[in-house]
Amino acid sequence: MREGRTIEVRSPRDGRVVATFPLSGSSEVATAVATARAAAAVWASRSVLRRVEALIRLARVLEVEADEVADAIISETGKPRAEALAEVAVSVELLRYYHRYAPRHLSPRRVGTGWMFWKKAWVERVPLGVVGVITPWNYPLIIGMDAVAAALAGGNGVVVKPSELTPVTASLLPDLCARAGLPQGLVQVVTGDGSTGEALVRSDVDKVSFTGSTAVGRKVMAVAAETLTPVSLELGGKDVAIVLEDADLARAVKGIAFGGFFNAGQTCISIERVYVVDAVAAEFTRRLAEEASALRYGVADDVDVGPMISAVQFERVSAHLRDAVAKGAEVVAGGVPEADSPPGEGDRALAPTIVTRVDETMEIFHEETFGPVLAVTAVRDEEEAIRWASASAYGLFASVWTENRRRGVDVGRRLRTGGVCVNESLAHAGIGGLPLGGVGDSGFGSRRGLEGLTEMTRPRAFLADRAGLSREPWWFPYDERVERLTRSVLALRARGGLSGLVVAARRLLGR
Ligand code: NAD
Repeated sequence: MREGRTIEVRSPRDGRVVATFPLSGSSEVATAVATARAAAAVWASRSVLRRVEALIRLARVLEVEADEVADAIISETGKPRAEALAEVAVSVELLRYYHRYAPRHLSPRRVGTGWMFWKKAWVERVPLGVVGVITPWNYPLIIGMDAVAAALAGGNGVVVKPSELTPVTASLLPDLCARAGLPQGLVQVVTGDGSTGEALVRSDVDKVSFTGSTAVGRKVMAVAAETLTPVSLELGGKDVAIVLEDADLARAVKGIAFGGFFNAGQTCISIERVYVVDAVAAEFTRRLAEEASALRYGVADDVDVGPMISAVQFERVSAHLRDAVAKGAEVVAGGVPEADSPPGEGDRALAPTIVTRVDETMEIFHEETFGPVLAVTAVRDEEEAIRWASASAYGLFASVWTENRRRGVDVGRRLRTGGVCVNESLAHAGIGGLPLGGVGDSGFGSRRGLEGLTEMTRPRAFLADRAGLSREPWWFPYDERVERLTRSVLALRARGGLSGLVVAARRLLGR
């Protein structure tokens, strides 16, 4: 029994205990799911318009409470204030997007009935019930909000299980939702570690929306398979930036540094690998190293690059760097923390680091590093860049840097990723209508956008008879008339037009 146990949340800035939360076991999880289900029954009966009105009220509450929410984010992640506020702004943007577009997307859709012209057919999108949302630590507000906003717009209840490292922000959600006038109990939060997450997957939720590592994503899917619970898996990444010879280097350098170092590189869609064509490689690398060296890193509100979330994460990134250097990589900006000298509390920020001469033998080449590290490799041309970009099991996002936008799009289309930016990095996450999801080891399914909303509902197909005949021509008993009708329909559908109509009429009459 795990009941009675707790988890401690510590500040990555100075190690002090920020809060203590219960470690929920399966009975607490079951209670949370049941409570959300009861509230969801009422919520689902409301029109979509009424539901999204509540979402816009939630956006307003977030606007008003932006600093309080940012304080919560900072307390458990240590990220700079600008990045914490960005989470609030992106959440508001998403809520506004669903407010505007969910009603049309979720309204019933008429479907043509083909030759059965005396019927009426349509598809409705109906709620799933209760969605279990399991989130990682890197964006304590926005990743949960992605799923919560879509689930609520779709008419569901939600049970959120935040990372054990960052439950503070998520724990504000029920109160924020109550202030926005959402029904009591509709949004539940259960706190705990992986065992709580597993209990949520094993509970009777109607869907699991999981965001986290690929290794845990596999476990979640295996457990969900036992009950055939649908899952969406938003997993790790090893995103690529391709810099072509005609790129605006000033923009590419700043944009790639931002894409690699935002949130100290602890972002699924962080740029981790850069392939730059030979013609501009030396100049680009020199400027990128300068840019990285000029960034302020540390544990304060006003730095550019904040601390690693945990000692484990610090060590993971450091180990990737040590492995790379031992195998011949060169560090051209930043540094490599020594082994066996873990940083003290308050010293967990890593210098933004650029490495070159990276090859396939290195961990940094294949594995997600999830830190402020960019591996830059010179390539002959765009073909070689595309080849290297594709040499990863992950496929989340990518960016292409070129003055020729059309060329950037063409290169982007050849990459196996869930999305592509041209001359841009990370900004797609600020656009509520763009889906975010990956392929391969990056998982499947989408958050955000209409695609994310679709995933929080299921289709219900309707067919209604309009003619009221005493019987349909294909009903029992089978006889020659049924066969004639079938042949007639086949001719009509295969040929179409007037000639199809004539042949169909002849067959119907048995000629
Ligand atoms: P993680 O996989 O260790 O944990 C994620 C969540 O799963 C946590 O809440 C954890 O408690 C829970 N969990 C752990 N074991 C579980 C189990 N057996 N069953 C159910 N739940 C379980 O990931 P993390 O270290 O918190 O986050 C970092 C990872 O998340 C990185 O790999 C990153 O790329 C990924 N991520 C992906 C996206 C995306 O959209 N693709 C976004 C953000 C982060």
